[in-house]
Amino acid sequence: MPMTQPERNNEVFQKIEELKRTRKAIILAHNYQPPEIQDIADFTGDSLELSRRAAETDASVIVFCGVAFMAETAAVLNPEKIVILPKPEAGCPMADMITPEDMERIATEYPGVPIVTYVNTTAAVKAKSTICCTSANAMKIVSSLDSERVYMAPDKNLALYTARYVNKEVLFWNGYCPIHHSLTAEDVLKAKSEHPKALFIAHPECNPEVLDMADGIFSTSGMLRFVSESPEEEFIIGTEVGILYPMKKMNPSKKFYSASPKKLFCPDMKKIALYDVIRALETLEPRTVVSEEIRVGALKAIKKMLAISDLP
Ligand code: SF4
Repeated sequence: MPMTQPERNNEVFQKIEELKRTRKAIILAHNYQPPEIQDIADFTGDSLELSRRAAETDASVIVFCGVAFMAETAAVLNPEKIVILPKPEAGCPMADMITPEDMERIATEYPGVPIVTYVNTTAAVKAKSTICCTSANAMKIVSSLDSERVYMAPDKNLALYTARYVNKEVLFWNGYCPIHHSLTAEDVLKAKSEHPKALFIAHPECNPEVLDMADGIFSTSGMLRFVSESPEEEFIIGTEVGILYPMKKMNPSKKFYSASPKKLFCPDMKKIALYDVIRALETLEPRTVVSEEIRVGALKAIKKMLAISDLP
């Protein structure tokens, strides 16, 4: 979502603005990025919002401040644009838990069963899937499929959560986000005892026992909407700590507490610094490039998702 722009009176911000103009560049940043990166972004959001921005932009250059699979999605949707991930080593351990070969094995084992891949996967894995989903639209996507059985990969927690609400058998891969999955019921109980008036909201990547304790379960953009619209004043947040920054910025009078600041810290999401963004805009490197064969396959799965997400 568009952010209120900060006072851009310091040298670094001005330099980035100038480089953006000369390079015809747009900066997209995930909600988990460090505050200073979110501040210089043209748009911040979750995977689905950023996928849409990537598809809509008329900029020539997309600087993607997130992790590798997100930049790949932008490259898949924008083959004519230069896509840069300022730190290419920013990966996602969950995305690495499944390979294209694993996808082939699933397809062989479950012939005719649609395979829904979470957007947190490599383009090569998406290319082997029937359709993609995000944490915001998983139920809608799975429900839309004309099959009594579906296979979800790689996040078992998102699959188990989705299975609660769809009238289908949901098979799933045994992957997980090590950050969200590490949050325990004990952590939540501790946070609740420290902040007894606060509501607890959680991301579907958390494990089922944590989700059972939540007052609401949302994607990151859903969380931002919920805390802004809620009459409540205090919230315990069960997702990566980066989200607390836009929450506080959008709701300065409300109080936000991480359910576990140590566990809910994703090192990959914190790899990009302002200096890396400047260097990326100056050199137009390092670029994220996806081979045409993989791009076409991944595009099909992403476009199917976007078409269904757009339906009311
Ligand atoms: S928070 Fe989890 S899913 Fe997101 S990039 Fe980090 S490891 Fe991957």
